[in-house]
Amino acid sequence: MSKVFITGHKNPDTDSICSALSYAALKQAQGVEAVAVRLGEVGKEAQYALDYFQVEAPELIASVEEKQAVMLVDHNEPAQSVDGLDKAELLEIVDHHRLGGLNTANPIFVHIEPVGCTATIITKMFDCQKVELPKKIAGLLLSAIVSDTVLFKSPTCTEQDKAAAEKLAVIAGVNLKEYGMAMLKAGADLGDLTPAQIAKTDSKPFSFGKYKAIVAQISVMDTADILAKKAELVAAMQELCQNEGYDMSLLMVTDIMEESTELVFVGEPKQLIADAFGKDASGDSIYLPGVMSRKKQIVPQLTEAAAKL
Ligand code: MG
Ligand code: MG
Ligand code: MG
Repeated sequence: MSKVFITGHKNPDTDSICSALSYAALKQAQGVEAVAVRLGEVGKEAQYALDYFQVEAPELIASVEEKQAVMLVDHNEPAQSVDGLDKAELLEIVDHHRLGGLNTANPIFVHIEPVGCTATIITKMFDCQKVELPKKIAGLLLSAIVSDTVLFKSPTCTEQDKAAAEKLAVIAGVNLKEYGMAMLKAGADLGDLTPAQIAKTDSKPFSFGKYKAIVAQISVMDTADILAKKAELVAAMQELCQNEGYDMSLLMVTDIMEESTELVFVGEPKQLIADAFGKDASGDSIYLPGVMSRKKQIVPQLTEAAAKL
């Protein structure tokens, strides 16, 4: 077989980058010619992990050719995946998200579990398949778990994620809490991001009923700086809707320390937001205490509200 591409989702987060590299390492150890690829820029948080553990970023690709062998990690929805996937040869999916409408020509290997991070599943696969975990790969897997679970604070976090992270920290030779906070801090640095870049941070497209939406998320240590620029953000989000054909653009500004989210939104119908979260959505943002997870606390609520609208 020719080279197999292993990719996370578009707009890759730390899990998509690190799980692609780690799953490629597992496959390579088993004699598969696997190569990790990515579908977008490496974020600051993932870059911190790559630098710390001295691993090169996956190769950037824009699309795949017909018949290219592909394995997906950290996603399964075609809209979030590589362009050309419909004509490629999809072999495997390792993921921790809802099923999102993929059809395949052939039977494929699928391993999806409702855990906090794809890396948790891959850690178990190394164990089950009796492949020794290299130190660097343990570091990458640990980074992904810290990122997706926000150091175990996210409601998506399970006991399995914690157990995997503790084991990985030992192999990687880091203090879990210290390394985790440092990595999250690196990712929460807004630096010189423009409002347009913030509006697309860690963004994913979704369909809520007949409405097309893009839901972005930015994690910060303190929401004050970013919310001071709300008017500019809202303008950038409006432009994003117009340019890319979305009905709505949502941005979760998640405060890692306070464990809350200010949900900024533009577009219609605002009733969808009001119904989903039981709040007055006539403005351009709502405060959601305790909300940190798009997958568990934002997307299902909007999906359900759209079905009733
Ligand atoms: Mg992800
Ligand atoms: Mg993930
Ligand atoms: Mg995420």
